[in-house]
Amino acid sequence: MHGAVLTDLVLVDIDTQNDFLLPVGALYVPGAEKLIPALERIYDWARSNGIPVISTADAHSERDPEFASWPPHCIAGTLGQAKVPGTLMTGAIAVPNRAGAAIPDAPQIIVEKQTVDVFQTATIRDVLAARPAQRYVVFGVVTEICVVHAVRGLRALGKNVEVITDAIASLDNAVAGRRAIDEMVAAGARLTAVQKLCTPH
Ligand SMILES: [Zn+2]
Repeated sequence: MHGAVLTDLVLVDIDTQNDFLLPVGALYVPGAEKLIPALERIYDWARSNGIPVISTADAHSERDPEFASWPPHCIAGTLGQAKVPGTLMTGAIAVPNRAGAAIPDAPQIIVEKQTVDVFQTATIRDVLAARPAQRYVVFGVVTEICVVHAVRGLRALGKNVEVITDAIASLDNAVAGRRAIDEMVAAGARLTAVQKLCTPH
């Protein structure tokens, strides 16, 4: 992949979209709006330091097969599908889930997906190849669903992965969320925190 420069760190933002984070959202994750200050801090830090971002974003059709399992959410082009304010960088470009889709040289690449596992998209491997990094630092929602899938997939490719534990949210913090964190650690992911990541040292 020509032009791909190995960077220290790439942020991997999972599904920080209105339908998941806002109480009015179609598939609201209880309490997830409390992540917004942390997300703003991470993005401010990324903008100030030129940190590349890979974001995943659900982009469903109106009769998406996934809606057999979940209430309709994140229908492409709706306000619910939009990313939460503060999580969009100037020059962000979305990549449709289509084999051979062009991977833009943008500060934020948004990987559109229709399934809970971003590694089922046709594009994620090309996006990662275009953004080689020493560390992939993951945050977003939902801990025990899309976040854990992303971490599994990154670890399966041998990537160094960190998870920002105060910038993820779970549908079930007591059991499933906790178990997902344990699984990510067992898979070799390290845990970090917003303050630790974003403090100059
Ligand atoms: Zn979905």
